Amino acid sequence: MSTSFSMLINGKETGGDRPSIEVVNPATGKTIATVPDGGAEEARLAVDAATDAFQKWSMLSAYERSSYLVKWHVLINENLEDLAQTMTEEQGKPLAEARGEMNYANGFISWYAEEAKRIYGETIPASGAGKRIFIHKQPVGVTAVITPWNFPAAMITRKVGPALAAGCTVVIKPAEQTPLTAIKLAQLAMEAGIPDGVINVVTGDAKAIGETWLQDQRVRKLTFTGSTEVGKLLMRGAADTVKKISLELGGHAPAIVMDDCDLDKAVEGVVAAKFRNAGQTCVCANRIYVHETIVDEFSERLAERVKQLKVGNGKEEGVTIGPLIDENAIQKVQRHVDDAVKKGAKVVAGGKRQNGLFYEPTILTGVNDEMICMKEETFGPVTPITTFSSEEEVIARANDSIYGLAAYVFTENLSRGIRMSEKLEYGIVGLNDGLPSTPQAPFGGFKQSGLGREGGHYGLDEYIEVKYISVGL
Ligand code: ADP
Repeated sequence: MSTSFSMLINGKETGGDRPSIEVVNPATGKTIATVPDGGAEEARLAVDAATDAFQKWSMLSAYERSSYLVKWHVLINENLEDLAQTMTEEQGKPLAEARGEMNYANGFISWYAEEAKRIYGETIPASGAGKRIFIHKQPVGVTAVITPWNFPAAMITRKVGPALAAGCTVVIKPAEQTPLTAIKLAQLAMEAGIPDGVINVVTGDAKAIGETWLQDQRVRKLTFTGSTEVGKLLMRGAADTVKKISLELGGHAPAIVMDDCDLDKAVEGVVAAKFRNAGQTCVCANRIYVHETIVDEFSERLAERVKQLKVGNGKEEGVTIGPLIDENAIQKVQRHVDDAVKKGAKVVAGGKRQNGLFYEPTILTGVNDEMICMKEETFGPVTPITTFSSEEEVIARANDSIYGLAAYVFTENLSRGIRMSEKLEYGIVGLNDGLPSTPQAPFGGFKQSGLGREGGHYGLDEYIEVKYISVGL
């Protein structure tokens, strides 16, 4: 039996009379719940509510907004297990990872609860004695939040945390595959006493909801995480009303393993960067460049380590690789593997789909730059290994991409590590670190991987307008 969930608009459960869409557990193929198939009308009602709520929410003191965020943080902690179970059911990731994501997601709420109190203005010495220059920081306004399915909680809190801290109100459209975690998070925000209309969640027709928000002059900010294709579409759409935008789009992360690396660290780092969420993250290592003198040893050790990964339903004890999100995802992975094999790559681990939406953790060696997996984001548990001979060569090849989100370097030579990190055209570099994401640090990409930063004090700037008040004495 599946449960039916509602949208949340102006603090009320809405949409029970609408047709519903099914939320399916990718591990079992079973429908676990339904959500309303909302559209333009609900999207507009949500903006009405957020616009009204903005008047009061933006006028609260930073301390008051902070204390609401703290209450929300506490409730999320108290309900962490339920949220993690829901996440695994709708998204598929292993329970340990879902718990990890919930802690990470909640870290954005507590970080921004603190940071709300530090939105400092400035005074600037004026050139004339009779003038004063004051700089104020104000919330940008109603914010549209559109999120993907791979991190059903964190992609919401790292936008909503800073938005609320700054004094913005939000309208959220979660991914159609994973709306339940989002709705539960919003319900907890209501329970925490966050006023009606400050957080609204609309589910359903992405295009209709997105277009309504893009065209609405009252929506002053759009923050999106998802594909580069949809990001470009939204960027164009946001031009008509000149909204402030943040985009966190696709990636194609290189991981570079130098001959002076610590092999244990490099193997663990690549496993962490590659196989988290079954390879379905935008910072997943997608192309592994290993120095030609150590490639055999590295590949053998990696293959040994990958054999320890356990594929299965994320709810089962010990499972480390869950299902992929849907049939399209698994077919894309198979296409990338088949293409590489056709062009001469060797499969040293995995290489096949299993029953349902499960795919074996895969290692390919003898990969070259002409293979699709070296050009496009695979978004699955496939590790293509290629070789290089010099630092200059590998930097050039790593930078030869339209993307610029994350890159990884493994070396024990400090000077080399810093030099390479600086030359990589990426917004995030993991130097001997396969898991750089954290609420305190700025996450975001160069080139077509996006605009703006999320996390840390940088993440607040995205929700703030700078006002210059010129005073004549
Ligand atoms: P993915 O490939 O990860 O599913 P998408 O970019 O397709 O990435 O989806 C990310 C989010 O963008 C989801 O919430 C999805 O519903 C939404 N989305 C997709 N197409 C549109 C659109 N035309 N307008 C607004 N939102 C959209």
